[in-house]
Amino acid sequence: MQRDTYDVKRTVLQWLRKRSNPGLIVNLCFLVVLIFSTLLTWREVVVLEGAYVSSQRNHLETVASSLDRQLQFSVDKLLFFRKSMGEALQTPLAFAVLQDAVSRFNLVRTRASWQLAVDKNRTLPINGVSDAFVSKTTLLNRDDARIDREISAALEVGYLLRLASSAVKKEARGMYVSRAGFWLATDTPAKNADAVSRYYQFVTQPWFTLQSERENRARAVRWFFASSTQHAGTITASVPVYFDNYWYGVVAMDFSNDTIRRLLVDAVDDRTEGEYQLYDTRLSLIASSAPSADSINPFDAAELAQIAHAIESDTEGGVRLGSRFVSWERLDHFDGVMLRVHTLDEGVRGDFGSISIVLALLWALFTAMLLISWLVIRRMVSNMYTLQHSLQWQAWHDPLTRLNNRGALFEQAKILGEKCQKQSRPFSVIQIDLDHFKGINDRFGHQAGDKVLSHAAGIIASGLRDNDVAGRVGGEEFCVVLPGIALAEAAAIAERIRMRIDAKEILVKKSTTIRISASFGVSCAHEKGNYSFEQLQSIADDRLYQAKQRGRNRVVWRDEGKA
Ligand code: GH3
Ligand code: MG
Ligand code: MG
Repeated sequence: MQRDTYDVKRTVLQWLRKRSNPGLIVNLCFLVVLIFSTLLTWREVVVLEGAYVSSQRNHLETVASSLDRQLQFSVDKLLFFRKSMGEALQTPLAFAVLQDAVSRFNLVRTRASWQLAVDKNRTLPINGVSDAFVSKTTLLNRDDARIDREISAALEVGYLLRLASSAVKKEARGMYVSRAGFWLATDTPAKNADAVSRYYQFVTQPWFTLQSERENRARAVRWFFASSTQHAGTITASVPVYFDNYWYGVVAMDFSNDTIRRLLVDAVDDRTEGEYQLYDTRLSLIASSAPSADSINPFDAAELAQIAHAIESDTEGGVRLGSRFVSWERLDHFDGVMLRVHTLDEGVRGDFGSISIVLALLWALFTAMLLISWLVIRRMVSNMYTLQHSLQWQAWHDPLTRLNNRGALFEQAKILGEKCQKQSRPFSVIQIDLDHFKGINDRFGHQAGDKVLSHAAGIIASGLRDNDVAGRVGGEEFCVVLPGIALAEAAAIAERIRMRIDAKEILVKKSTTIRISASFGVSCAHEKGNYSFEQLQSIADDRLYQAKQRGRNRVVWRDEGKA
């Protein structure tokens, strides 16, 4: 059991050692750091974006609620007029002037148009049309049981309408339009020239017709946006007047576009950043806080469609349109929607812009530093790697002949010998010594000797298979290890090498070539079943000595006595 775990540990360690390419590890580490730093920056960006969106929303909410408060004031006023009308209908004032006006009405009611002026400095004049006009349409009704009280009440409320409109000029016009064929308005001209067409116009406008019992069951204040060219730019808020469950008429207030724009600009106050736009329910622009028409942020049809789609699903939110961020919110006291348009330009100049830029710069700086250090470390690692390889090579090789050195050869030979012994395969050793090498050194110099050595080594190495191992074991002595090769075959290989060395002309000096020879001793483990490399080498050495004795330039692979 213990042995098993030991084996597993060893296998894992070997696997790690094989795969632990330092370059790969460096790449991996830097990649992980880069990914994490980028993810971290990304998270910061997401948080920052959330904060930006909510700050946009906050700005818009403040302005929207401020505008809402102002509109609430107008709505309250409308409701106040309605209530006054109700009170006046319930308990009419028994003033002689009012009773006189009512009796005057009874004299003029059949005329095509008429005007009842009580005191122009106190209340508004009543303008009206004939009984015949009223009876033509079912929406209108002149109920004889109610008309007297209504006229009296209208004159009372006219006083309030006049007072309210002269006090604060917020609304362009305040009016009461009755179903009984008359109206009061703060802008009534002194001369009642086109009363019929004016009344006709009033009772055909949506702000009147859509206040009927059927169209506005809730009897609440409603906003209307004039789309016809004649009234373009006018916004009307209206509320129906009921008493005793009878629909008398409509109290309405007109606001010009300029008024709404002024309200919007007041609500925006000193918020210089971003543009606020007010849209009606069909998404046509009513007013903008932009200082001039040129500086209004325009939206094309596709963008408006995108905003409309967003608005459908919620009462507030934000959408990104190209480089602009648009947040929107519905108003409580207005049937429309308010937008805040924030351009990229403004965003960059703001707090969030500078934080984003700093964040981006920090990330870029960090990434650049990371890249530079990665390059430096990569180079260092690769240099160390090459150095390690060259040191390792130098430790195991002879620099002159580029063959294994003595130590490396012995190590490999021992391992190969053990392996062959296990598999009962033959294992041969060839010892080689160059002949009269001292003489070459003496005659041509040491450098020439070195040249001869490296040539001889080249010839020896080129005659071998991949599994064979050759090494330089002494000054001009070489050893070749041949795993799986029997004695006779090893002798044949030695003979082939000998012939090639013998045949080679070596250029040692300018125009001086020499020929050399070598003596070979061969031994094999199968001879005595002895796989010990030292002993095989010693036997081969003995035979090499015999080769020298017998006149050199030959291969000896059997002992003399047995030959
Ligand atoms: P033999 O045929 O009996 O082997 O004669 P030999 O001259 O080769 O005799 P020996 O083996 O005694 O001589 C070895 C010589 O090899 C001695 C030394 O000068 C020379 N030698 C050893 N190492 C080097 C070397 O690295 N470079 C050079 N140029 N010569 C070397
Ligand atoms: Mg020698
Ligand atoms: Mg020699």
